[in-house]
Amino acid sequence: MSPSNRSSPSDPAARIHDLRELLHRANRAYYTDADPIMPDAEFDRLLAELADLEAAHPELADPNSPTQRVGGEPIEGFETRAHTVPMLSIDNTFDEPDLRAWHARLVKAVGGDGSLFEAQESGGAGPVLLADAKIDGVAVSLRYEGGKLVQALTRGDGAAGDDISANVRAIRAVPLTLDSKGGPTPEVLEVRGEIFMPLAEFERINAERDEAELEAFMNPRNATAGTLKQLDPRVVAQRRLGFVAHGRGEVSGAHAAGFAGSHSAFLKALKGLGVPVSPALAHSPDIDEIVRAIEGFASARHARPYATDGVVVRVDDWALQNQLGVRSKSPRWAIAYKYPAERKTTVLREVQHQVGKTGKITPRAVMEPVILAGTKVSHATLHNYGQIRKKDIRIGDTIEVEKAGEIIPYVVGVVAAKRPKGAEAIVPPAECPICAGPVEIDPPEGDPAQGGDPEQETTRRCVNPECPAQMREKLIWFAGRKQMDIDGLGEKTIDLIRAGGIPLDAFADVYALARHRDALLGLERMGETSVENLLRGIEASKARPLARVLGSLGIRHIGSSNAKLLARRFRTLDDLLAASEEDLTAIEGFGPVRAHTLHEYLQSEAGRHTFGLLAGAGLAMPNPDYREVGATIDSPFAGKKIVLTGTLEHFERTALAEVLESLGAKVSGSVSKNTDLVIAGEKAGSKLAKAAELGVEVWDEARLIAALPAEHRPG
Ligand SMILES: [Zn+2]
Repeated sequence: MSPSNRSSPSDPAARIHDLRELLHRANRAYYTDADPIMPDAEFDRLLAELADLEAAHPELADPNSPTQRVGGEPIEGFETRAHTVPMLSIDNTFDEPDLRAWHARLVKAVGGDGSLFEAQESGGAGPVLLADAKIDGVAVSLRYEGGKLVQALTRGDGAAGDDISANVRAIRAVPLTLDSKGGPTPEVLEVRGEIFMPLAEFERINAERDEAELEAFMNPRNATAGTLKQLDPRVVAQRRLGFVAHGRGEVSGAHAAGFAGSHSAFLKALKGLGVPVSPALAHSPDIDEIVRAIEGFASARHARPYATDGVVVRVDDWALQNQLGVRSKSPRWAIAYKYPAERKTTVLREVQHQVGKTGKITPRAVMEPVILAGTKVSHATLHNYGQIRKKDIRIGDTIEVEKAGEIIPYVVGVVAAKRPKGAEAIVPPAECPICAGPVEIDPPEGDPAQGGDPEQETTRRCVNPECPAQMREKLIWFAGRKQMDIDGLGEKTIDLIRAGGIPLDAFADVYALARHRDALLGLERMGETSVENLLRGIEASKARPLARVLGSLGIRHIGSSNAKLLARRFRTLDDLLAASEEDLTAIEGFGPVRAHTLHEYLQSEAGRHTFGLLAGAGLAMPNPDYREVGATIDSPFAGKKIVLTGTLEHFERTALAEVLESLGAKVSGSVSKNTDLVIAGEKAGSKLAKAAELGVEVWDEARLIAALPAEHRPG
């Protein structure tokens, strides 16, 4: 039996207790130990079960229940509260001589006291130093009383900060309750650290904002700050922010003594309590070793899943820290070595006007190539035409480019003194640069007195639905890995096919390519193998579930996450097409604007035409995501822990796992005595042997197909 099923449903108090513990443990495993113990879908399901139980038993409510992370009501604003211990900032340095000078001052300041030095076992070189990555996020102070999170404050001016408790509670990386198995917890424990946005999440949110036609966040730090300033904690809960501890505030009361000593011991103790901490890059009394660690991390940092902008070096020993003391705003015992800003100057050669899949026209700078953050760049974003006017950027100008949060190079501004004679103004296209179709500008241009300030322009869009530039982008999106996942149909192939005169101007045209086999073979660089591969990929994509199809069409506001919400609510495409605007508005997380735009599209002639052609092309659109409201899952797989192994003839393993999970199973990677069922395909190896050894039931593919509901059987 799986650990989630230990307690009986007849004892709600015990079940609630077990679920809370299990979900806390899952969060810890994910964020602190980086070793997840359950898939996201399982987490969501258990969380929903807990929420139902808590709703039925309000007497068992607990503000630290994992359900409270998502249930917070919108707040009016943030109150300012004083820090019990000032929240200092750390001095910055940008070069090695400065760092060494800081170290020399340290040695001089504490060197007079031989006893302290001996305690350091440092061999006389100086105090033991600890170096760790400086994450580019937002600093926060978390206050735990009796092991429970009671308050979260921003740094503010160091003396007082904003109370962002409601938002921080929504962040799964922050433990609401400290893990008492990690040792006794001080009565009062203030943990200071950084809330940050992982790069993958940053990209996901920007893609979502693009879909919703909102301005993209500049970098992960801005995105984090923007998220923490949200008045609605539910928005915070949807964004997967991370947290790492890097310091302490007040530590007092019973058991506080066990937390004194050194920074490294403090971090170790925190980790034991379930708080994520950053691993040390170096721990040494030798400044040369610290410098080497900083040099080594300069390139290694680009591989981390979050943005870092330097290394913090601090004296490890707390007694020495106290002896060194603080200046007005920063401690003498710590310094932040920051890598030089990734900003260069170069010359703007040209501006390209790119048309995206929603028709949005984006200016892109073509520059003299320049090395930025270790890579050669010759393109940068200019964001929008309002920005170009505001910054008065002209072709031929010397411009400054920067990599924002290590990601997208963008044009910061111009070096006015270097403007050549005849520098050319950048003219925003008055019509679509590809199809010459009409352009819509937001906010509208016009008389500044009427509020039509051209510097305020944020979006310029080609509104011709037949625009081939949009169609090209839409097809690239449609065939992409996260959408219809069509093997062999990448950007280059799409261009090749279109240039070769084979019709590819609509999604349904993809499915007509099989009829143009000879023409495809006649294309340059398309041999027999690649054509076969392409046609096979297209055929396989006909089985993609409804959610994937909906998320692939480039419908305004409908990307993968919103498509999933729709598939959850409507069993079939026809049900969705029959939905009223009110039905769509009622979907949680949808809202009237999205519902209106979507309804308009679904009812439009173009929309009907597209769906008709796709269904006619043979897309089955199965819908494993559909959930009947309040229904329990009735399937032979419900509640079973299943392991898949070997090669299956009719299923791709990930897709099958999704189907089984939608039928209530839990799919895991390894066979144990808790496994209920192993499904074995061809060439199953050690997992099959293990199953036999443990006496676990084994099914072959035929037996699986027989047990699957008809809509999930291979076609
Ligand atoms: Zn156009």
